Amino acid sequence: MRFSMSDYSISAKEKGWGPGWSANRSADMARVRADRSGTGINVHKRVAPLVDILLDESERRGYRFHPKSCGGYVNRAIKNTDKPSNHSWGLAVDLNWDRNPETFDGEVHTDLPGWLVALWNRYGFAWGGHYRNRHKDPMHFEFMGAPADADEMLAKARRELIAKATPVPAPNPTRKYTVAAGDNLSAIANRLHIGGGWQALFQRNRQVIGPDPNKIKPGMVLTLP
Ligand SMILES: [Zn+2]
Repeated sequence: MRFSMSDYSISAKEKGWGPGWSANRSADMARVRADRSGTGINVHKRVAPLVDILLDESERRGYRFHPKSCGGYVNRAIKNTDKPSNHSWGLAVDLNWDRNPETFDGEVHTDLPGWLVALWNRYGFAWGGHYRNRHKDPMHFEFMGAPADADEMLAKARRELIAKATPVPAPNPTRKYTVAAGDNLSAIANRLHIGGGWQALFQRNRQVIGPDPNKIKPGMVLTLP
């Protein structure tokens, strides 16, 4: 990847994707489909084969998209701004907005498993549940690279996900984490790409941690959601 996965200050135009909103880019879009649920999404044709693989891989591992709660290309600005949304380039997808609502209070409400977020991150899509302010948008994934990165990520996904079919992990493999000195829940959740962030980690381990999420101690064994 030629660009940072967390730097949102560089526009897709600057990365070489041409104009966004208010230019109409519908001629550059292609429709992809998650095979098991039949969910169809319009995205930029240069990322379309990659998005198609990620949708199918997500469903192969057990997650299901809801056809009426997913979308990609929309010719619009970022809400309340005059900056083009990455949706206007067809570089962003919203997945299951019925279960992954946008919030502005710092809370992440999501049904996306940690492995799904990690999967999309691995191939260049940043997750709106990882925004570093109180705005959280867990339905939202956006491609952070240049057009050539899309080709490279596609080659990597074909190599890793298609050529050698990895075994499907158990739906909820129990993974443990032992708290180290200086840890806090949100740092752990970020580092391990926990879907739902520190709140999900806290909920899952309330019995171990107790009522105060700031009271974790070195040596505590947490179960990862
Ligand atoms: Zn979005």
